[in-house]
Amino acid sequence: MEWCVSMPKIELHAHLNGSIRDNTLLDLARALGDKGVIDFSQVEHVILKNDRSLSEVFKLFDLIHIVTTDHSSITRITKEVVEDFASENVVYLELRTTPKKNDSLGMSKRSYVDAVVEGLRAVSSVDVAFIPSSEEPTNLSSPLLSDASDKCNGNIRKKIFVRLLLSIDRRETTEAAMETVIFYAEVFWAKLSLFVTDLERYTHLLQVMLALEMRRFGVVGIDLSGNPAVGEWITYLPALIFARQQGLYVTLHCGEVSNSKEIHNMLDFLPQRIGHACFFEEEHWRRLKSSNIPVEICLTSNIRTLSVPTIDAHHFVDLYNARHPLVLCTDDSGVFSTSLSNEYNIAASTFGLGQNEMFELSKNSIEFIFGDNVVKEILRKTFDSAAKSLEL
Ligand code: 5GP
Repeated sequence: MEWCVSMPKIELHAHLNGSIRDNTLLDLARALGDKGVIDFSQVEHVILKNDRSLSEVFKLFDLIHIVTTDHSSITRITKEVVEDFASENVVYLELRTTPKKNDSLGMSKRSYVDAVVEGLRAVSSVDVAFIPSSEEPTNLSSPLLSDASDKCNGNIRKKIFVRLLLSIDRRETTEAAMETVIFYAEVFWAKLSLFVTDLERYTHLLQVMLALEMRRFGVVGIDLSGNPAVGEWITYLPALIFARQQGLYVTLHCGEVSNSKEIHNMLDFLPQRIGHACFFEEEHWRRLKSSNIPVEICLTSNIRTLSVPTIDAHHFVDLYNARHPLVLCTDDSGVFSTSLSNEYNIAASTFGLGQNEMFELSKNSIEFIFGDNVVKEILRKTFDSAAKSLEL
C-alpha cells in the first residue's frame, strides 16, 4: 500500500460530492441538525453505514446534497478533496460535479461552479494548477515534483493539476442539461451587450467564446451520471452533441445496469471515455474494443454496489489482458471509503500486478486525460523522473 501511495497517479473519475470526507459530512450534518433543518440522529447511521447497494448509494447522495448545497460547503469540500488526492500523490485530477441550482440559497449553476473554483483557489498545502496551458509553466524540463522554485524551507511543495468535468444528472430535463453546457454563454452575451435572438447565426462566435470562457475555469468536459435506473440518456443527447461541438470532451456512465439498447447507443455516440461498463454483453465488448474507447474502472465502487459479483470476476482482467485502454479510479472515495492508492493496491493483490505493471498502468492513463498536450508532456516527465526515484 505504501508503494501505491508513493507512485504518481492520475484520477479521472471522481465525483466531488462522493469524495467528501466522512468527518466533514458529519460536521455539516450536525450543523444542519443544530439549526433544526434535519434530524441528525436519523442521518448519522446512514452516513456511517459501510455496505450500500446502488440504490442506497443514491439515497445517500440525496442526503449529501441536502447537507452540502450551499456555496461555502461546496468550496470547503472542493478544497479538502483536492488536498486528499494530492496527499496520496495524485498529480492530475479530473474532478466532476453536477452544477446545482437552488433559488432559496441564491445558487445558480454558475455560482455553484464559482464556489468549486473558489475551493481550488483556497488550497494552500499544495500548488493547484487549474488554469489551462497558456497560463501553466511552459518550462517542460521542470517536472511537477522537482521545481527548485517550489522549495519551501527545504521541503518540495507538491503540485497537482486539476481539471473540471460538469456532470449532467439523469434526473434532469433536456433544458437543465443544456443549461449546464451553455450557462457560460449567457455571461458572454451579457458582457458584449449583445441581444441575440437568432443563436444559429452566431454559432461560430458563440463556440469560440464559450470554449475560451470555460477553459478559463479549467472545465474540459461533460459527464453523464446519476441514478442509471432513472431516465433515458437520449434526453441529454442534444446537450452532449452541443458540448462536443464546443470542443468539450464527453464521458458517459455506461452499463452500470443491464440496458442493452442504451449501452449500444452510447457506444455509437463514441464518447471519449466511459465509466464502469459492468453489464456489457458480448456485442458491447466487441464494439468497445474495436472503437478503443478508454474505460474508467472503479473496483471498490462496483463491488460495494454489487455491480459485479466478485472482484476476481471483474472485467478489469479481460480488458487489461486485451491491452484495452483503461484507468483505475475511485468514483466516490468518501462514500466507498477508498483512495486511488487503495484501488491500485486491490488491483495488485487481486490480479497479481507487480510494481512495474502498476506504474505503467498509472502512466498510460496520461493518454486518456482531457487536459491538453502541454499538461500531458509535463506529466510524462513527472512519471519519468518518478520512475528513477522509485528505481524502476
Ligand atoms: P456531485 O455531482 O453532486 O458532485 O456528486 C454526486 C453525484 O454524482 C450523484 O448525485 C450522482 O449523480 C453522481 N454519481 C456519483 N457516483 C455515481 C455512480 O457510481 N454512478 C452514477 N451513475 N452516478 C454517480
